[in-house]
Amino acid sequence: MARILIVEDNALNIKLFCDLLAAHGHEPQAVTDSRQALEAARDFSPDLVITDIQLPHVSGLDLIRMVRDDDKLREVPIMAVTAYATAGDEERIRGAGAESYVTKPISVARFVAEVDALLAPKKAPVEAH
Ligand code: MN
Repeated sequence: MARILIVEDNALNIKLFCDLLAAHGHEPQAVTDSRQALEAARDFSPDLVITDIQLPHVSGLDLIRMVRDDDKLREVPIMAVTAYATAGDEERIRGAGAESYVTKPISVARFVAEVDALLAPKKAPVEAH
C-alpha cells in the first residue's frame, strides 16, 4: 500500500484516480486547489504525487518544480497527467522534474502500470511510448 497525493481540479478525474488507486490497495488523498498542494504534500508525506498539468492558480509544471525544490519532498516520484501532450510537453514535464506522465483520457492499464513502476524504486519507469 502506498500513500498517493492527487492534485486535480476535475471532480470526475479525482473519483476515477481515487477509485483506481484504492482498488489496487493504495491510500489516495486528493487536493483540488493547487495553492494547497505543497502544504498537503508536506502533511501527507506521499510515496507518489500525481498531478494534473492544467490547473488553475498554480500550474502543474510550477507545482512539480516546487516539490523538487522542497527539502522534505524532493525525492518523491511525480507522475503528471495532461490533456494536451506533444513532444515539447514531454520535455517540459520531465524537465520540471516529473518521472513520467500519462495523457487524458487516461488508459487505465497505462495509469496503473506507471504507478506500479514509480512505486518500485529498483525498476525503471515504463517507457513513455
Ligand atoms: Mn485540470
